Amino acid sequence: MKAVLRTIVETAGAWAARSYITGTNLEDGLKASRTLQAHGFKSTICFWDGEGDTTEGIVANYDAIILRIEELKSHCYISVKPWPLKHSADLFRHFSQEAKSRGVKMHFDSASTSDQEQTLSLIRDLVPISGTLSYTLPGRWHRSVADTELAIEQGLDVRVVKGQWVDPSEPVDPFEGFLKVIERLAGRARHVSVATHDPKLVRAALSALLARGTPCELELLYGLPVGAVLPIARELGVPVRVYLPYGHAWLPYVVGRLKKEPRVALWLMRDVMDSMRSRIVGKGGNSRLPI
Ligand SMILES: Cc1cc2nc3c(=O)[nH]c(=O)nc-3n(C[C@H](O)[C@H](O)[C@H](O)COP(=O)(O)OP(=O)(O)OC[C@H]3O[C@@H](n4cnc5c(N)ncnc54)[C@H](O)[C@@H]3O)c2cc1C
Repeated sequence: MKAVLRTIVETAGAWAARSYITGTNLEDGLKASRTLQAHGFKSTICFWDGEGDTTEGIVANYDAIILRIEELKSHCYISVKPWPLKHSADLFRHFSQEAKSRGVKMHFDSASTSDQEQTLSLIRDLVPISGTLSYTLPGRWHRSVADTELAIEQGLDVRVVKGQWVDPSEPVDPFEGFLKVIERLAGRARHVSVATHDPKLVRAALSALLARGTPCELELLYGLPVGAVLPIARELGVPVRVYLPYGHAWLPYVVGRLKKEPRVALWLMRDVMDSMRSRIVGKGGNSRLPI
């Protein structure tokens, strides 16, 4: 019985996850980026690797993204995940030089708190040889307030998120933590992306940044609902960027939440239905963006 239930949940999860990627290939991400640009949105493209992806495969995808988004660079940058490549200094030196020579900004996504130390150390080493670099600061980590210093000292861009992985030392309220990080960045950082779908947080964070004259944008995840947050960005006159993953589909909201929040089960069911519908009518993607 348990095995049957597990199979049902895994199958539902696999269907639901498809709502959160643009497709399996870079072409899918590029197509979404062009369509969004035509509707006034900026974007970032990331290859989401999965089990079975080799180092060579991940490297080939990052190389291809940098090469292809050169043509979109005014409105698109690359997001990378350093942990599947074991934070390799050689590989990231290579990517950052390729990106620099093509005028493409490179952003580092975040995973766990222990991984963040390695990511920031990698970025510190890359700063002297790179073009525009940017990294992620999760509001639910104690260390993130202090981690703003690298961006402030070196003039790097940052993206602030609530964060999917909790701080193992002591949990931080993601809403409060997010705003503490924003407070530290306001008036000091070169550019801040406010990456959340929480309308109260969007308003509070963007208002704090604008009040201190800090260049900022709203950054949204492909597949998550945008209806409550887009009007706030429009009202405040802030540009909007959409994070476009392609490759291996996974659910960006289930880590630790399914048991605690019953509404997540509803999101899961809705995502399964959306994914099945788009399969049947032959359309890729989802209907949550106004495009
Ligand atoms: C551009 C971008 C980049 C990110 N990069 C990273 C990263 O590098 N590392 C990392 O750990 N995390 C990353 N995240 C994920 C982030 O940490 C959160 O897990 C995610 O954004 C959900 O939290 P939230 O801030 O939107 O607030 P939530 O409170 O989760 O959501 C706000 C509201 O949005 C709605 N909502 C959210 N999800 C769903 C859903 N699936 N279905 C229906 N409604 C939903 C609900 O109404 C909810 O109340 C990123 C998020 C974005 C937007």
